[in-house]
Amino acid sequence: MASEDSSPAVAADEPDPLVEREVHDVRVVIDRDLCVGFGDCVTEAPDAFDLDDEGVAVFTTPEASIKSCLLDACASCPVDAITVFEDGVAIIP
Ligand code: SF4
Repeated sequence: MASEDSSPAVAADEPDPLVEREVHDVRVVIDRDLCVGFGDCVTEAPDAFDLDDEGVAVFTTPEASIKSCLLDACASCPVDAITVFEDGVAIIP
């Protein structure tokens, strides 16, 4: 019987593109357990983030957002739910 879930399968060893992206030479990770859905990131970078059906942040098309906007959006999170890594080092928060 076919699955009703139409979302693309994500291999166990690959990051979930809804919560982790390599974009603009940085790696950005959303901690959905910390996110409280205030939407500041969506306001700052509407191309990059959206709130899902649960009211929690996910990535949409962060590559469409200019880097400064994306970084501003990550830094705007009031609960530090978005971490930005450059060369393996967290630069935000
Ligand atoms: S700014 Fe932070 S808390 Fe608000 S929706 Fe984005 S990730 Fe969630």
